[in-house]
Amino acid sequence: MANKNYYEELGVDKNASADEIKSAYRKLAKKYHPDLNKDNPEAAEKFKNINEAYEVLSDETKRRNYDQFGSADGPTFNGFGGNSSGFGGFGDFGGFSGGFSDIFNIFTGGSFGGAQTRSAKAPIKGSDIRVGITLTFTEAALGCKKIFSLNRDEVCTHCSGTGAKGGTEYTKCSECGGSGQVRYTQDTIFGRMVTQGVCKSCNGTGKSIKTKCEYCNGLGHLNKLSKIEVNIPAGVDNGEVLTLKNGGNAGRNGGANGELIIDVKVKEHPLFVRDGSNLLLKVYVPFYTLLLGGEIEIPLVTGKQKLTIPPLTQSNTVFKLKNKGIKNLKKLGNGDILVTIIAESPKSLSKEEKKLLETLSKDSSNYARYKSYVKDLSNLD
Ligand SMILES: [Zn+2]
Ligand SMILES: [Zn+2]
Repeated sequence: MANKNYYEELGVDKNASADEIKSAYRKLAKKYHPDLNKDNPEAAEKFKNINEAYEVLSDETKRRNYDQFGSADGPTFNGFGGNSSGFGGFGDFGGFSGGFSDIFNIFTGGSFGGAQTRSAKAPIKGSDIRVGITLTFTEAALGCKKIFSLNRDEVCTHCSGTGAKGGTEYTKCSECGGSGQVRYTQDTIFGRMVTQGVCKSCNGTGKSIKTKCEYCNGLGHLNKLSKIEVNIPAGVDNGEVLTLKNGGNAGRNGGANGELIIDVKVKEHPLFVRDGSNLLLKVYVPFYTLLLGGEIEIPLVTGKQKLTIPPLTQSNTVFKLKNKGIKNLKKLGNGDILVTIIAESPKSLSKEEKKLLETLSKDSSNYARYKSYVKDLSNLD
């Protein structure tokens, strides 16, 4: 269930807006509603799928989870019908004529046998495993490999997940003839409905175990301590979440694995402040270097680089070191290092220095303008 393409189900684009999704859903729900398709049992199945798709895509959180993890609920998602209430929540039927939702409730409640029967044996996606990691600034900037030791359910290698000894000690399921699928017939207020579902007897495997695998006791999976190497991509930032697809617990009844979800923390750098893929750096430079010009050294993610400061540079001037920032995960290339140069005034002056500065201060034209403005203000009083 988790691998269904909900967008295809509703016939919309992956980037479809909420309105587009709602409109596509309403059109299809009207078209396939069982009440209007008494002679077409396939419509009920289609109707159910449309609702399942809409339930996920109309909910911002579920849609995001689905886009990211391939399932609506992440850790606890166990597919359609996994809980006793069957479908769970339903779509917005506000636009339909009165009475629709009543009929709809009867239709989708306990009386819809196919869903209930299948829910117990439906493939269940394995649960996710969530871990945290703290990276140094450099590890995050350049990427690194990390090894996680964790307990997780894995497919039993002794029986290849079949649960049968050696992976071979089984026979064809007599219930479904080995297809793993059976047809269920149900009498409803809409008439007789036929739906196809997973065979209860063999969980849809089509196989019946003759002798159980002695390692997993027929379960097909084992909980074990695993060391998982994860490539942390260059450019990952504090607070980001990485998802290793299929890195979680093994699924049941042929369901997909859960994901390994990694919460990333990145330690602060003593000088750099990260702004996305750009790095901000403040450098305090003696005021005379700004006046006379000079060269200073700038630290990079690795190594350093010289920066030429032209004469008569103003304090707070920003210099850009292009592509020297952090790798941008969303587009090609790197961000920049933005160096803000700040003039540092001396903490003390010798007599000689003071004299020199007094001579210089006569040329401060901006300050002269400021002084005359303030003087005019006092004249108004
Ligand atoms: Zn079977
Ligand atoms: Zn086994």
